[in-house]
Amino acid sequence: MISQTFIRELLERADIYEVVNRRVPLQSKGANGWACCPFHNEKSPSFSVSRDKQIFHCFGCGEHGNAIGFIMKYENLPFPDAVEKLAQECGVKVVYDGKSTFNRNPEKPRLTDIMERAQKYYRNRFLDNSAAQKYIKDRGLTDETLEKFGIGFAPDGWHNLDSVFSPDDRKLLIDAGLQREGNGGSFYDFFRNRLMFPIRNIRGQIIAFSARTMIGEEPKYINTGDTPIFTKGKEVFGLYEARRSIQEKKRVIVVEGQMDAIQLSQAGFGESCAPLGTAIRSEHVERLLKMTDHIIFSFDGDTAGRKAALRAMDICLPLLEDAQKAVFVFLPEGEDPDSLVKNQGPEAFEKLISQGLPLSSYLIESTSRGLDLSILEDKGAFLDAAAPYIRKTKSVLLRDGLIERIATAAGYKDTDQLARYFGFEKVAPIAPRPSGFRNGASARFGKGGFGARRFNTPSSGKTLPPKPETPILVLLRNFLRYPQLALEFEGAATEHLSSGELGPSDKIFKVLQKICQEDDNGDSLLSSLGGLPSPSEEEVFESEMEKIRNILQTLLLADGEDKDIKSASERGRTLRTPLSLARLETKRIFLQIEFEKVEQQRKALCSGNSLTQEQRQLFQSLLGVNKQLSQEIRDTDRKINEELTFRTR
Ligand SMILES: [Zn+2]
Repeated sequence: MISQTFIRELLERADIYEVVNRRVPLQSKGANGWACCPFHNEKSPSFSVSRDKQIFHCFGCGEHGNAIGFIMKYENLPFPDAVEKLAQECGVKVVYDGKSTFNRNPEKPRLTDIMERAQKYYRNRFLDNSAAQKYIKDRGLTDETLEKFGIGFAPDGWHNLDSVFSPDDRKLLIDAGLQREGNGGSFYDFFRNRLMFPIRNIRGQIIAFSARTMIGEEPKYINTGDTPIFTKGKEVFGLYEARRSIQEKKRVIVVEGQMDAIQLSQAGFGESCAPLGTAIRSEHVERLLKMTDHIIFSFDGDTAGRKAALRAMDICLPLLEDAQKAVFVFLPEGEDPDSLVKNQGPEAFEKLISQGLPLSSYLIESTSRGLDLSILEDKGAFLDAAAPYIRKTKSVLLRDGLIERIATAAGYKDTDQLARYFGFEKVAPIAPRPSGFRNGASARFGKGGFGARRFNTPSSGKTLPPKPETPILVLLRNFLRYPQLALEFEGAATEHLSSGELGPSDKIFKVLQKICQEDDNGDSLLSSLGGLPSPSEEEVFESEMEKIRNILQTLLLADGEDKDIKSASERGRTLRTPLSLARLETKRIFLQIEFEKVEQQRKALCSGNSLTQEQRQLFQSLLGVNKQLSQEIRDTDRKINEELTFRTR
């Protein structure tokens, strides 16, 4: 534990103005410094730093805090590392409480110093070695990139470091892995005639080197072995350099090689990194998941790439939380990220990312490959292949979704039975959810929100479909016809449909995804929807709406034809439900879903023998919620009827 007193003293000593100014140049106005906020996008400065109060505050996005908070947020560092960093900048050493359970190795700071000095040496040797420079320039790296990654060169020869370090440093050089002891008590440099890539920890300190041959020696890379400051299996190359982009873009791209990470970074994918050594390990993924909820794995399209992808999937399943996702991107055969961005531009890579397979799809694809799921034996083989993966899935949401998709793929109707086959009882959706309920979905319906299907209202004929559609299909129909509704009800959809229990809800999320998906120019349907004229200008509105529908259809078709989507949009065209009515219809459906959920919870409570005091209270509050919901449903039905009467008048 870092001593509390130390933190107080550190904050007194550090001047937040300087701390921020070093990273975001401030303009002095009065007592405060001003800049465009580094935490949200803006054109005029609303980010201020107060010397008096020693805090920063953004009037635009509300970010607020002291110097440590600023470093944590700006550098994407956990608290202890931010404190270390600030202390380093103030030239003081962090004081840890005596109670500390882990042993601080006093050698450690000295080892990182040694590495720092070695890196400076390698960097200078690079700058005066034309062969090394030519080699790297031929690979298209710019000076800026070389500087960012601190790329250096270790000249040929066995005793170069002796000219830089004193004999007193010998033990540290050995401990840092820079020199080795040979026969007869002599010492020699470990890295010779290689390009030097520093490996930094998340604080930016150099803890190891990865050295690449320029003359085709084997192995292509040699790395520092394990040292007191470096454990090879745990480090991710490029993570320090990538940390800000990871935070900004809310994703990380994991590639197979260090050179790929550097090339991608230069091409605008600053959030790229690569595992050190050959294969990705759980330690790597764990570390990445602490920084972002969205991991994109990029693999070569060959057999080795497929194998690596399977491994990554295997590692992710026990680690991913409900809100986290992993996506698998496969490069065309013969391409690596480097060649792809060079030959086809960064847009091509971004496009591949947008077409990447979510983990669930990849799991189904990889476990059913080569099987004919219409054959009984192959179905069995499919389930057997998928079973170990399903069993190790941590996220219940993901697991249920996977079981659902496996059922669909193999043509099983009973997902509960399938869940039991994999060793899980499907959890009934009746987790008690008492009073906070009203803050949930229906609160999001917002001002005059509307929606839906007519469950119990008397039929008024013409505009209603001849056969009842399932609620999900009505939602799908409305969202395809008016994509803006999908956005308005996104919160409710996520809350109520994510479990997939109500039918093909993945289609709904697919529609949402397509609406938000950006093309190569950064345009999306989302932006087109923002520019729509008012629905009162019926003619213009309808013609613009139609354009948007067409684009949405095209985007959806790109993933292959889907019968639900097809029939829902056809039905939409036939019914031509006006926007206001479609909105009411949608709202009505979500109200009904909520109502039924609450009712189910209430009934579940009654199934036991006697209720505890707590359960009785819960029962009462559920009853209250349902009364409220019933009222809301009646109101919505009334509005729907009014609308219908008005329309048919
Ligand atoms: Zn801001």
